[in-house]
Amino acid sequence: MADRYLHLTGTATGRFLTRRLGLPQPAHLRRWSLETPTLPGPVVHLTAQDSAVTDELATVLAACGPEVAARADRPAGIVLDATAVDTAAGLGAVHAALHPVVRSLAPGGRVVVLGTRPSPEDHHQAAAQQALEGFVRSLGKEIGRGATVQLLRLAPGAGAAAAESTLRFLLSPRSAYISGQVIELTDAAPGPVADWAAPLAGRTALVTGAARGIGASVASVLARDGAHVICLDVPQAQDELTRTADRLGATALPLDITADDAAGRIAAAAPDGLDILVHNAGITRDRRLANMPADRWAQVIDVNLDSVLRTTDALLENGTLRHGGRIVATASIAGIAGNNGQTNYAASKAGVIGLVRSLAPRAAAGHGVTVNAVAPGFIETRMTAAVPLFIREAGRRMNSLSQGGLPVDVAETIAWFAQPASSAVNGQIVRVCGQSLLGA
Ligand code: NAD
Repeated sequence: MADRYLHLTGTATGRFLTRRLGLPQPAHLRRWSLETPTLPGPVVHLTAQDSAVTDELATVLAACGPEVAARADRPAGIVLDATAVDTAAGLGAVHAALHPVVRSLAPGGRVVVLGTRPSPEDHHQAAAQQALEGFVRSLGKEIGRGATVQLLRLAPGAGAAAAESTLRFLLSPRSAYISGQVIELTDAAPGPVADWAAPLAGRTALVTGAARGIGASVASVLARDGAHVICLDVPQAQDELTRTADRLGATALPLDITADDAAGRIAAAAPDGLDILVHNAGITRDRRLANMPADRWAQVIDVNLDSVLRTTDALLENGTLRHGGRIVATASIAGIAGNNGQTNYAASKAGVIGLVRSLAPRAAAGHGVTVNAVAPGFIETRMTAAVPLFIREAGRRMNSLSQGGLPVDVAETIAWFAQPASSAVNGQIVRVCGQSLLGA
């Protein structure tokens, strides 16, 4: 279902009318393409207070692609190093650094504030660093014109190199629909990258629910980035699955992920092992709890959560998921905020978040594997096209970017998690929701 309002506000008459009526003005989001792979202008590197990472950050930013400058008339990105801010008074330097430049940020620009983890031992440092979260979330809501704002927290003692894959992602058109996020990095050393244009070359990925929607887009983006992809979907979707897989030079695996032998069949389909496991398959069976029969409850928990737990455990234990591997699960903002008529779905998606947070440190220590989740907001797919009109319109507009996301927005996020250089990104739940008001 096309977003007709977005189309309308893209015309001169539509813009005039909707402005007069005080209606939302969604900006045209510039996404990645071969023609526009980077931001359309320089990135300004600012420092709130001299920090241990200032010099290394300059080197990392210089490697990221866009030109880096101390000032620019119309920057496309702003990176503020606030890692050394450790007092309430020090927050004045954040205001002083960003206040003069924020207005000049180009439409669709990026602001990334670099912070560090709030300290359990120093409540002044913790207050100042936590303050950055409120700051970033508010700036995301007011900045407008398709611009986005994130907080990236470095682990204590970690260098800026751990942040390179994340900075490249956030300072690019690939992160167009992500805003107001707080991403915490560990101090894990980044894995090697031979070619940033094909960071997944030589890797094998399995994507569940890959016949259509978000899963098909994930398969496509992972293949674009160099991975060999195995596309899994239910046998009933075999025709669509084969078409998707053929288009990408991928392997089709018709299989119900809830089948008892699912993990064994996946292991057999990837005899040399897997590097990337994307749990994307998901279903809804909406009813209010009072009207919900046990089978609708059980189906959703089984597909969205239990099969994720079972296959994750089996593929880690039988060694199919190789050292340095990546597990990415699909949560939802419904799993954060809850949703009327979705006790089963929201429980399953909140369960996914619990799985990620608990398993991430152990999987990294035991298998060198990271575990993260995307939490999509309103994404334009068949699942959301089936939502009743008024709820659908509210879902589309109630976010800082005033529009729904596209499957590719979720796919780009998963591809960033999947990179060998993203070793420091672990245990994160990143919302791909245009900074939705739900669960904010
Ligand atoms: P979709 O319904 O378009 O696609 C889901 C795919 O999963 C289908 O191809 C389906 O056949 C497959 N699938 C379902 N059960 C399966 C099973 N037992 N075994 C194997 N494959 C199975 O949905 P989508 O919108 O692309 O959603 C993809 C994921 O993103 C889901 O986990 C969904 O919960 C999540 N999500 C979507 C949105 C959104 O706005 N579209 C928002 C939040 C979360």
